[in-house]
Amino acid sequence: MDLIAEGQITRNLIEPSFDLVDTFNGYWSAVMPPGSKTSMAYPFPRLQTDGFWHLIPNPGHEIRYTDGFRSMIRLREICAGAKMDAELLALLVQPESREHLRMVLINTYFAPEIRPALIKQGRVNVVAYQYSLELFDKAEAIEDPGDWMDRQEPEIAASARSQGFKKAIVQLYDHRCALCGIRILTPEGHTIVEAAHIRPWNESKDDRPTNGLALCRLCHWSFDEGLMGVGHEYEVLVSTRVRTDQNMPGHMLTLVDRLIFRPNKQLFWPGQENLDYHRRQTFKN
Ligand SMILES: [Zn+2]
Repeated sequence: MDLIAEGQITRNLIEPSFDLVDTFNGYWSAVMPPGSKTSMAYPFPRLQTDGFWHLIPNPGHEIRYTDGFRSMIRLREICAGAKMDAELLALLVQPESREHLRMVLINTYFAPEIRPALIKQGRVNVVAYQYSLELFDKAEAIEDPGDWMDRQEPEIAASARSQGFKKAIVQLYDHRCALCGIRILTPEGHTIVEAAHIRPWNESKDDRPTNGLALCRLCHWSFDEGLMGVGHEYEVLVSTRVRTDQNMPGHMLTLVDRLIFRPNKQLFWPGQENLDYHRRQTFKN
């Protein structure tokens, strides 16, 4: 429903895409205890038993539902996606009937105390997606995309803002860490990179791609600690502090002076004014 509302699903084939898995994971973590694990490989094929959902095999494969799918790798290997009954899809495309059906699902299958979290998550997903598009559009313009977000409902704005920023940055860097180049994306939709602000958001209020970097956990921490930075020619800087005392910086030292990984379009490259701020305020030279 969210991907239809966002305009990401426009035809009658629901693929097990990264965005679908990511959306599913978002709902899961909104209502389940921290640390509980799941895989969309379970519900995706099981919906077929409800009668409106029809799995489409990849060429050369046959779907025997009783086989089940033990992992997303297996699901994607066998299954191209699913088709819905056309009458249902037509209802889901219309905002009014879609939101009505959403409430029927939530009220039928979920306990009263977790319903608000599900309703909120759906609103956050759609606004976050629209915000990520806004960030691409406004990359060059003087207008601050924050103005656009300020017009959204306040109770969802903070979550939607950070989710939308992450969506935009991770997509621009294609899940690759700008500093070390590592790219790991699990079949369950977990990515090694996080979206980092170059000038902290608290102080800059700037979510534009020119103030963002996709960074792996290690590089994100090192960047925020001032142990890594980016130079005037977009080369990786590593602070001499990582070599002091008992530290064992490992592969970090091999990154020195290598060019960082940047989005294809120069328009979205990190701004030197932001990197300069980080070099002066945070980087430990
Ligand atoms: Zn990294």
